[in-house]
Formats: sequence, C-alpha cells, structure tokens
Amino acid sequence: MVSAAHTVSTWHGVVAHYRPRLRINSSVPPVTLLEGNTPLIPAPRLARALGGDFELLLKYEGVNPTGSFKDRGMTAAITQAVADGAQAVICASTGNTAASAAAYAARAGLACVVLVPDGKIAAGKLAGALSYGAQVIAINGNFDDGLRMVREATERAPIVLVNNINPARLQGQKTAAFEICDALGEAPDWLCLPVGNAGNITAYWMGFTEYLEDGLIRSRPRLLGAQAAGAAPIVRGHVVEKPETIATAIRIGNPVRWQQALAALSESNGHITDVTDEEILHWYRMVAQTEGVFVEPACASSLAAIAKGRREGWLDLRGKRVVCVMTGHGLKDPDTALSGLPAPVTIQPQIEALLDVLQVR
Ligand SMILES: *Cc1c(COP(=O)(O)O)cnc(C)c1O
Repeated sequence: MVSAAHTVSTWHGVVAHYRPRLRINSSVPPVTLLEGNTPLIPAPRLARALGGDFELLLKYEGVNPTGSFKDRGMTAAITQAVADGAQAVICASTGNTAASAAAYAARAGLACVVLVPDGKIAAGKLAGALSYGAQVIAINGNFDDGLRMVREATERAPIVLVNNINPARLQGQKTAAFEICDALGEAPDWLCLPVGNAGNITAYWMGFTEYLEDGLIRSRPRLLGAQAAGAAPIVRGHVVEKPETIATAIRIGNPVRWQQALAALSESNGHITDVTDEEILHWYRMVAQTEGVFVEPACASSLAAIAKGRREGWLDLRGKRVVCVMTGHGLKDPDTALSGLPAPVTIQPQIEALLDVLQVR
C-alpha cells in the first residue's frame, strides 16, 4: 500500500485505495470522483517568509474534485448511504460540505438538501451546490443553527445526515494523513490546519494514530490548530454565539468535534491558537504570491498561526518538517480574492500604451 500510493494510473479514489482501513459499510462499489491523491508541494519561499530554517510542505486539498478536502469524507459517507439503501441526504454547511454533498449525491443518483447561512457562503461554493442540482436552502442563521435543524429533520423525514456527526465522514477524511505518511515514508514533525467543526483535525489524528499502531510510522506529528479570532470557541473555551470571520469555512461557534480536538491536541503535545482576519488575509496573499498556490482564506489561518507562534516565541520549528493543510481552493471565494486588490489597468491596443504601464524593468 505504501509504494502504490502515488501511481496515478491505478488511483481509484480514497475508498478503493484505503478500503481495508475504513470502517464503513462499503458493500457497494464506491461512489467516487477519484478524490484524494493530492499533491504535497514543497514551499521553500513561503517557509523563508515565515522565518526560514524549517521545511514546509503544503498538502493542497483544493485540487479535490469539488475544490476542498470535504470530498474525502463525502465519498465515504455517500458510499455508505447507498449501501444502507438511502434515497436522500441532507447537511448544514458553511459551503464546502454543501458543494461536496451535492456532487457525490448527484454521482449516486440521490436527492440532496443543503442548508447554508444566508449571505455568508462564498460564491464558488453556492455555485457548486446549485450546479450539482441540490436543493439549497438559505437560513437566517449561522452554521450552528443549520446543524440543529438538519439533525431534527433526519428524525422526522427519511433522509440521511452527512455532516461530520456521521462517522463515515471522518473515516474518509483520515486518508489525508495516510497519504502524507505514504508520500514521506514517515509522519511530519508538525501538522498545521484550520479548525472549524474540528472534524478534520480529529480525522487526521485518527489516521496518524492508526498508522502508528500498525507500525507504518514511528511517531505522530504535533498538531497546530488555527481558529479565526472572531470564531475561536476552542481557544476561548466557550461557545461563540455569533461567530464572525472572513474565513467563512471556519465560521463556527460550537464545534461538533470539540472534545476529540482537545484530546488530539493534548495527545500530540500540540497547540491551538487564534489569528485575526488581517493576519489571515496577509498569508492568504503570501501563499499565492510566493508559491503560486491559490487557497481560500481559511487555509491561510494555519500559516498565520505559524507566524504568530514564531513571533511570540512558543513555536520552535528549527530543523523541523512541517505540513500545512491547504483545505480548499482559492477559486471558491472570488469576492475575497478580488477585494483589496487593484482592478487591472485598461489601455489602448498599442505597444506604446503597454510600455507606459509595464511594471517590469
Ligand atoms: C470545512 C473546512 C474547514 C474546517 O474543517 P473542520 O473539519 O470543520 O474543522 C477548513 N477549511 C475549509 C476550506 C473547509 O472547507
């Protein structure tokens, strides 16, 4: 399994590739869009901007079929839903779960209903969910309100919940940890990632732990979690009633996997910290401009957390290998990408006009 992990021609998606390791009902062929097998991109210029003297790798989950890591969990959850005879699925979402559920439901021929916070969903995510044919319902409330409603709905209607309360989601998502270990031949020293509902940090820890128990790696990474300052319940130690951040993917006030995240952080001897929207936006631009990796704002919180930890002196990365998870693609949120950047200059179609404005000297 270790040696075959990066042979593209034999890649059939994460359920097929890691099936013996996934505790899901997979008595049917996997519902897959060939998600996973995502690149682990060395980022030396970005590492220098973060103070240098460590090795930085970006696990670029934005290149999954619907543009985020949510596809790993969704292939598992929808495969299991089909195996269980479901006809319809539902979820609440800040956007990426909605797009992913809609795509995999379409692939399986299931009906899909998604609840999203009105006006707080990035354009690319809404466009995805609608394009894949889901019933999209906007609520005058946040993700946490939506989750409460879909939980109740599944008790009253014949519909399967595919939020990360559904354990199949974490089974699929833990494959990202397997891929990192398969690519490196061991675990990195640190794994850094944004934390919203904390499903992903929980799933990564599960994956590393299972590889350790099976002797495929000798140690597990330390975890560095990042929350947005306006939506940092785990950092603060209490529910945030009205979470706010530009990083809408982590705009969560009451994480579903809160306790598991705390356990993973303490077992790994890790840290969780909060970063401001300004810091997020800074590193959001930096990762695109130093490495050509375009991500959505939430991803940059992990980079901002590294910068903060080094600045404040509690994060010693010298000589370490660090993997940062770039959880979603930058094209998901074109409005944030364009805001704050100058519009292109418009010129006449003549060479003199071009030479006048050229910024290359
Ligand atoms: C869902 C999501 C997160 C947060 O993951 P959790 O499992 O909710 O902690 C971070 N970034 C992106 C792009 C996401 O879609």
